[in-house]
Amino acid sequence: MNRWGIPAWLEKEVRERDKACIYCGVQMVDKKPRGCSRRTLATWEHIINDATIVTSENIARCCATCNSSKGNKDLADWLHSNYCKNHGIKDNTVADVVKKALNTAKRLTPNERET
Ligand SMILES: [Zn+2]
Repeated sequence: MNRWGIPAWLEKEVRERDKACIYCGVQMVDKKPRGCSRRTLATWEHIINDATIVTSENIARCCATCNSSKGNKDLADWLHSNYCKNHGIKDNTVADVVKKALNTAKRLTPNERET
């Protein structure tokens, strides 16, 4: 397991799947290029903010910019944030793994959303 509690096999699978940010689609780098911003640095992401869900459906990689914007926000709420509007990120532009998570979240909490 790495320091995020992700088993090695899962880390490998996700690394191979998510070369581009699952949210904004930018090509990510594993190490910050010297003299460049960390904007496109790959970071580990729990799509649904639940650290106990360690599956390839919930563990993904997104760029540092999206990760810091999303923070602890609920995925569906974050998709309506100004950040997503400004970056053209919508529920139909994100990676398939995110779309699936959105559908799962809807199934689990029907009509419980307040905002
Ligand atoms: Zn991104």
